[in-house]
Amino acid sequence: MSDCIFCKIRDGHIPARLVHRDDHCLAIEDINPQAPTHLLIMPLEHIPTMNDVTVEHREMVGHLHLTAAKLARQRGLADSGYRLVFNTRRDAGQTVFHIHLHLLGGRPMEWPPG
Ligand code: 5GP
Repeated sequence: MSDCIFCKIRDGHIPARLVHRDDHCLAIEDINPQAPTHLLIMPLEHIPTMNDVTVEHREMVGHLHLTAAKLARQRGLADSGYRLVFNTRRDAGQTVFHIHLHLLGGRPMEWPPG
């Protein structure tokens, strides 16, 4: 079995608070939320980092963003705003090597990020 934690969540081997699932992606509540809303939207396919995304993945990457925007609307964040982030490798602090789009919202955020 893959030792990727998000593959294990996808396959139901590790529990998670699932907020969305379709044929291409799933979205879960982050276990250590950094904002009142902190969701992780990820492809079902195991892709380690954004460096591994190719032109064949463009529909899936677009789908992750559209799904994030839909979830943000559902949570009443469309007007107040929210942040979407892919952390990629060491300097960005990526810790799980299965790409995931962070959706953060529900509080004011600073720029630039730390
Ligand atoms: P990264 O640092 O790779 O951009 O983000 C990984 C995120 O996954 C972190 O925000 C972390 O809290 C979250 N995370 C790590 N392990 C688990 C887990 O087992 N379940 C859930 N729901 N989130 C996790």
